Amino acid sequence: MASGQEPGFRESVNLLFDRAARHMDLPPGLVEKIRVVNSTYTVRFGVKLRGDIHTFTGYRSVHSEHAEPVKGGIRFALGVNQNEVEALAALMTYKCALVEVPFGGSKGGLTIDPRQWDADELERITRRFAFELIKRDLIHPSQNVPAPDMGTGEREMAWIADQYHRMNTTDIDARACVTGKPLNAGGIRGRVEATGRGVQYAIRDFFRHRDDMKLAGLEGGLAGKRIVVQGLGNVGYHAAKFLQEEDDCLIVGVIERDGAVVNDKGLDIETLSGHLRHHGGVAKYPHGKYTQNGAAVLEEECDILIPAALEGVINNDNADRIRARLVVEAANGPTTAAADEILRKKGVVVIPDMYANAGGVTVSYFEWVKNLSHIRFGRMQRRQEEARQELIIEALEKMTGKTFPDELRGGFISGADELTLVRSGLDDTMRGAYGTMRHVWHARRQDDKDFDLRTAAYIIAIERVAESYKSLGL
Ligand code: NAD
Repeated sequence: MASGQEPGFRESVNLLFDRAARHMDLPPGLVEKIRVVNSTYTVRFGVKLRGDIHTFTGYRSVHSEHAEPVKGGIRFALGVNQNEVEALAALMTYKCALVEVPFGGSKGGLTIDPRQWDADELERITRRFAFELIKRDLIHPSQNVPAPDMGTGEREMAWIADQYHRMNTTDIDARACVTGKPLNAGGIRGRVEATGRGVQYAIRDFFRHRDDMKLAGLEGGLAGKRIVVQGLGNVGYHAAKFLQEEDDCLIVGVIERDGAVVNDKGLDIETLSGHLRHHGGVAKYPHGKYTQNGAAVLEEECDILIPAALEGVINNDNADRIRARLVVEAANGPTTAAADEILRKKGVVVIPDMYANAGGVTVSYFEWVKNLSHIRFGRMQRRQEEARQELIIEALEKMTGKTFPDELRGGFISGADELTLVRSGLDDTMRGAYGTMRHVWHARRQDDKDFDLRTAAYIIAIERVAESYKSLGL
């Protein structure tokens, strides 16, 4: 975490925002309006558990309503506080604007250690929290749509969706009140993997551009690149797994709550993740070297560092010792504003959070659209597409007198199912946003060698939010 002398998370986000705003020619009043958090609702509620009443504190913060609904995950963690929720809500606004997801920014959180409660207890706590938010329209299909974040997943989203439905029995769009639900409760294929998948697509896109790699001092392809990952939860696990299995990267270090494991020859993510689930930590993992000092592994020599756990982990205290060439911010806010400055001076390239982890909200958007249209993507077209491809094969064979190669037939004919369409939409979104970002990055670097990808991302996001506000008549 960031040292006590550094500004807090929200302040850090504001500092990075201000740095970008200084490159723009916007009226100061408008800049201020975009920067501020519109509202934060704090709720304290009691739940009778284990024979006693326990009081919990939760938040739902709305950063910007320039587009509605507003969107942002719900985090369950002991460290949740107003400052953190507001910073995360602001990042959601910029993230949605950057990847052209038509939502404003929001975030929620409950100050709780979910591991201290069993599933039944957590369900009662989650439903009670959801009740407080739903009755104030802070969870609502057209106003405010949560999703999973740290400490929450499909299970919690299903409870929230059901709670909303119970309180709004005639709302035909009730399922669109929250995303990240299990499939049987109105979820979409590919949402669980989406954020990690987006991290993989972001890295692939970076590696498609030699100029960009050169700026990080990297060359060659992705295969064999050495990666350290912090946090093997939803985001870190999927990112590491896909990069290992599909891009032949070497995951040489994994940092978790109880320390880290390293292995120069690469850690098998599937096996390590099984061990983590089973034992609650990475200690005693037999196929790597364990150290209790997880933070030190952030400083290991590697090509790519992927912080995928908490904010503020790269800070004033350790930024100077980071040896990765490329930092990919899978977590929200892992680099403090001060550390960002240090990394930039060292020539480390940072792929910023608002882009790198936007896969989650992108597929959440697809899920929301699916819920409102009440039909699975691809259901109408898939077989028709296949029939048309069959016809093309038939015509080709007739015209040439030759047989279409068997090994290509399956791939050529098969129509796109929901998962294929979701991945295609996600890939397209990530590539589109990266293209826009790097265009600004390279254009501005001509006069300012210090200009970085994060500032480019902020400029694009701020410009888009400013345009919305202007057309709203502000
Ligand atoms: P998660 O709860 O599934 O996983 C977090 C992981 O980090 C866990 O394995 C946990 O044990 C580990 N961890 C916790 N404290 C740690 C510490 N001090 N050191 C090392 N590891 C630690 O959470 P997640 O959903 O994967 O979210 C991780 C980050 O990604 C958060 O910053 C979140 O805001 C961001 N994010 C998540 C999503 C999403 O779709 N889930 C989307 C965008 C951004």
